[in-house]
Amino acid sequence: MNDRSIAYFSMEIALEGGMPTFSGGLGVLAGDMIRSAADLKVPMVGVSLLHRKGYFYQRLDASGLQHEETVEWSIDDFLEEMSNRVSVNLDGRNVLIRCWKYEVTGIGDFEVPVYFLDTDVPENSEWDRTLTHFLYGGDQRYRLCQGVILGIGGVRILRALGYEDIERFHMNEGHSSLLTLELLDEEARKAGRNSISHSDVEVVRKKCVFTTHTPVQAGHDQFPIDLASRVLGRGDVFEMKDVFCCDNLLNMTYLALNLSHYVNGVAKKHSEVSRLMFAGYVIDAITNGVHAATWMSKPFQKLYDRHIPGWRQDNFSLRYSLKIPKEEVWGAHTQAKKELIQYVNRQTNIGMDIDIFTIGFARRATAYKRGDLFFTDIERLKSISSKIGLFQVIYAGKAHPQDQGGKEVIKKIFEAKKLLSDRIKVAYLENYDIELAKVIIPGVDVWLNTPQPPLEASGTSGMKAAVNGVSLV
Ligand SMILES: *Cc1c(COP(=O)(O)O)cnc(C)c1O
Repeated sequence: MNDRSIAYFSMEIALEGGMPTFSGGLGVLAGDMIRSAADLKVPMVGVSLLHRKGYFYQRLDASGLQHEETVEWSIDDFLEEMSNRVSVNLDGRNVLIRCWKYEVTGIGDFEVPVYFLDTDVPENSEWDRTLTHFLYGGDQRYRLCQGVILGIGGVRILRALGYEDIERFHMNEGHSSLLTLELLDEEARKAGRNSISHSDVEVVRKKCVFTTHTPVQAGHDQFPIDLASRVLGRGDVFEMKDVFCCDNLLNMTYLALNLSHYVNGVAKKHSEVSRLMFAGYVIDAITNGVHAATWMSKPFQKLYDRHIPGWRQDNFSLRYSLKIPKEEVWGAHTQAKKELIQYVNRQTNIGMDIDIFTIGFARRATAYKRGDLFFTDIERLKSISSKIGLFQVIYAGKAHPQDQGGKEVIKKIFEAKKLLSDRIKVAYLENYDIELAKVIIPGVDVWLNTPQPPLEASGTSGMKAAVNGVSLV
């Protein structure tokens, strides 16, 4: 079990429907990476935070106003508690961390463990116990403490669990980049020093890789140096200005860039944009992907099993799907669509019809994704529907509790829904999560994606549509 050579760190990882441990594409990608690693027998181990109260449970009132509730989930229904404990220093306090294990099993029964860190133990103060409760919650101090727990606590937990031979630490986004500080301290200790040096930086760089995910500035955490020094209980590292500090800020992205020997963006275009954002760094491009079997509806799985046995082992063989008879593809799609339309009708009583052309849009509700763009010209939509043909539209997506622009998008869709109600049926399903995604995406006829370029680094839901024979617009 400790024969792992790659540690994959991510602030969010989506593993199954009942676990609210993610907010959107970043976490879903992390889950797909781990599932794919298990299939390919890659010797990996994952590290994340528990998010005991979840991201949140979304309810929408009649006007589309979003209400957030904490998620109640039974951790021990999903995860196994480990007996190992480590601690980190936060603001001069010793904060105890335990962890919970989830095992992802691949097609050849190879297992990839994922450890979820948890500070909610009786030994910790009330405030410290909340530090692993909310994904992307709280203020800057709370977020920085989460960064310390994930990065520094994460490395310590791996060591306590006996993972001594990790050759690569993969930072999936900058949230975990404080892991480099712990690795630097390890090197200094090995050399018998009590402060880190530039030779440690060289050793640590060889161990670290970094994937940057967002061209949106707000997506890159940065903290004032005095806050960072207080929370970490040390100022020494910030004297190494070329590594730790720019403009009096601890920028988690720059830390990851400075301490990685390999950096990638998540699409060709995104890497170009990232190279402009982070001048002077070499940023390669590896386009995101999806774990095909996870996102394929049952009817399509059966179809491929019949025509392309072996696609689960070799996804690339799905290119032969071009030879599958069109009627069979249509038959599989019709089954997936029926399941979706029945689901929507059960949830909303809106009376959608399986024979009507259906458009879908579901992803995080945030301004740059422009979920409301489709409704720019209401009269034109009405005229298309009467002159060209009927259509119906299915929406879903949560806005971050502090993202007013995202909440506005949901309200605008609700307004459009009202304006169109006598002609075009529009449903907005609550609480978008991976189970809902698995019903919506395969079931629509067209999957709509209208982000503001170049802010979408690499949408992945379109790839889920593709493996289900759904067209992407
Ligand atoms: C795939 C997925 C996403 C990411 O969708 P994008 O189109 O890449 O933004 C977000 N949330 C859930 C639940 C998903 O399944």
